[in-house]
Amino acid sequence: MNVFISTRNAAASPVDFANAILSPTASENGLYTLRTLPHIDFEQFLGLDYGEQCQRLFNMLDLGISDEILQKALQSYQSFDTPANPAPLHRLDRAFFLELYHGPTRAFKDMALCPFGEIFSTFARKNNQQYLILTATSGDTGPATLRSFANKQNIKVVCLYPKGGTSQVQALQMMTASAKNLKVFGIEGNFDDAQSLLKALLVDKDFNNTLESKGYALSAANSVNFGRIAFQIVYYIWGYCTLVQQKHIVWGEEVYAVVPSGNFGNALGAFFAKLMGLPLKKIIVASNQNNILTEFIQTGVYDITTKTLAKTLAPAMDILKSSNVERVLFALFGDKRTKELLYRLDVSGRYVLDSNELMCLQDYFGAWWGDDIQTKQYIKAAYDKGYIIDPHTALAYGAYLQCCQSSTALICSTAEWSKFAPSVVNAIFGKICDDFEAIEIMLANGASIGKHIQELSYQPILHNQVFAPSALPEVIAQWL
Ligand SMILES: *Cc1c(COP(=O)(O)O)cnc(C)c1O
Repeated sequence: MNVFISTRNAAASPVDFANAILSPTASENGLYTLRTLPHIDFEQFLGLDYGEQCQRLFNMLDLGISDEILQKALQSYQSFDTPANPAPLHRLDRAFFLELYHGPTRAFKDMALCPFGEIFSTFARKNNQQYLILTATSGDTGPATLRSFANKQNIKVVCLYPKGGTSQVQALQMMTASAKNLKVFGIEGNFDDAQSLLKALLVDKDFNNTLESKGYALSAANSVNFGRIAFQIVYYIWGYCTLVQQKHIVWGEEVYAVVPSGNFGNALGAFFAKLMGLPLKKIIVASNQNNILTEFIQTGVYDITTKTLAKTLAPAMDILKSSNVERVLFALFGDKRTKELLYRLDVSGRYVLDSNELMCLQDYFGAWWGDDIQTKQYIKAAYDKGYIIDPHTALAYGAYLQCCQSSTALICSTAEWSKFAPSVVNAIFGKICDDFEAIEIMLANGASIGKHIQELSYQPILHNQVFAPSALPEVIAQWL
């Protein structure tokens, strides 16, 4: 069986998949990552359905998860628009949008979190352990996590979101969560503050002891959890196989993957797929004005000291500390170097790759960023071709047009337009309005929308408390 090791100390004792999922903080505060990545002949995936592809991948990764548990988890795709094809393609010229938002909360987070909730809860029951799952969200992880764990046995969820940092629809998706085992708190601060609080709590001895005395172990469902990453590899295989089956390419032809990136979990799925042999030419990382990843990939400098977090039209990418980059560093440069670089980031706010390392990174990645004006231009450009995209996807479309010169590409479409309707309406019609007016305008213009979004405007608000980060340990303990 394959095992998981720490990105900062590969010699520390490894854990199995269940433990990497249940307690995701590894030795020296590293992240768990697979000890061995197999080389896979992906051509054998042609003709399999989505669930079969996932099953085959997990078997080849040798994760040691039983077919029965995985099958049950994959049932969660039944809540998608078209369960047999949870990630359909939409074509504009040679750009193929891989639509990852057809799940219940209308963002790509559902692709991983839907099956993940079932797997987590199963492992928790097997261990006969209650878990408190803490999650910090910039807007899409929260709703997807809440839905995934609603009424799941052995689980309680506390979801932290930056007050004012999400769209109205996203905030409502969280504030209306009704299952008894779910709690949502607003944080005074931005997403980095919420994520920093989460990371601090996960390793805080006092907080963990308090929870233990109440019978709970602490865990996280954030995009650093490998259980999510594993599911985020599958749709790149699926997308590539679909291109072959629809005869847009022949097997082996390399295509770009363009990924609007924040915490880098989605792009990491593409990276692992490429490492294992999926014919991806390069992974193009699209960013907004918070362009730290662009700078890193283009120059090898990761520097948060020169940046302040800007609020943009693509808030899921308003991030400076992009956690999953650590797993790329580990895969390319090993644990000692990863530890050294991240130590520098902690103490001085920056690290720099040497020129060989940079060349190595650029073998895998390209990058581009756009500002809010460009975001709107690319929404409009797609609309003029008859396709509606959200602001995050618009930046990926921009990156495609700027970096890929009309080559064949899979562009990750990470949210339904309805989650960011005011920006979309403003880009297309120049109007300024709130979320639900904007949704009406789009519907009147022939757009369609997930049913859960439509229901939001008349559901009761059950969670509306906002706290300073420092108050939360106590507030959480009390709720338990
Ligand atoms: C989460 C999210 C992203 C960023 O994904 P990462 O895995 O964090 O890089 C991009 N777009 C949307 C709509 C998202 O919800």
